[in-house]
Amino acid sequence: MFVLPYIITTVCGRSRTSDDDENGNTEGLTMNVSVPPRRAFPEDETRLPWLALLLDAYAVVDKGVGIAVNRGKRKLRKRPACTEGCDTCCRANTDIPTYPLELAGMTWYAIEKVQESDRTALREQLSSQGETPPCPFLLGNSCAVYPVRPIACRQFIVFGKSCSSGEDPFYTRREDVLTPIRDYTDEAIFIMLPFYGITRDHDKVNAIKNNFMHTKVQNIFSCNWISLAERMSSFDALGSEDRRKRSGV
Ligand code: SF4
Ligand code: SF4
Repeated sequence: MFVLPYIITTVCGRSRTSDDDENGNTEGLTMNVSVPPRRAFPEDETRLPWLALLLDAYAVVDKGVGIAVNRGKRKLRKRPACTEGCDTCCRANTDIPTYPLELAGMTWYAIEKVQESDRTALREQLSSQGETPPCPFLLGNSCAVYPVRPIACRQFIVFGKSCSSGEDPFYTRREDVLTPIRDYTDEAIFIMLPFYGITRDHDKVNAIKNNFMHTKVQNIFSCNWISLAERMSSFDALGSEDRRKRSGV
């Protein structure tokens, strides 16, 4: 298959399209999409087997998002509005659903992977987190846990114009909000289910049919991120060898 040099990168849970011009030109609406490769952390995935499930699932989600964006562009004749640094959604959304496996991923990433230069700011933000937006992982206008941001963020993409301050496009212009492709979301959940002790294919199919994952969902704002800030501090106080031994999530 001939794939044009078209790259979709999700930016802070949103999508940036590299072939779109600055003027809102919709050239490229019928182009094929290549999606970002699966993120890989080989050492961590060996030590934390659940991490491989999460990254596999995210790769499937990202593939589905890429295809859905391409479909949306053709259908709406609009480009995705999401660009790097556009963060109104991270500042405005009061409900950011996450699954326990995703929370484990964000916890792991914050403790072990966030760069030195961002750690103090993130710790302070997590420590003072309330139950309202902005998202505690929004640093400046970027997502501090971007490689492992939740499915909800990965799939939240808006076409046309970018969201205005305080706008929830689900209510103001639902037609511009990307509709994720159910099959990809289901496949991602299928991959994640062993984390919850559901390992047989038959049971996984039933779990998906019965919306098992809906019973697990948590709003990001209801989580105790203060304890994550404390764990980051404990991790930072360790020497490098001890960090390797102690870093299990
Ligand atoms: S356009 Fe809306 S959904 Fe997209 S990145 Fe900006 S604020 Fe978020
Ligand atoms: S986790 Fe928070 S900061 Fe990151 S993309 Fe989602 S809402 Fe934005």
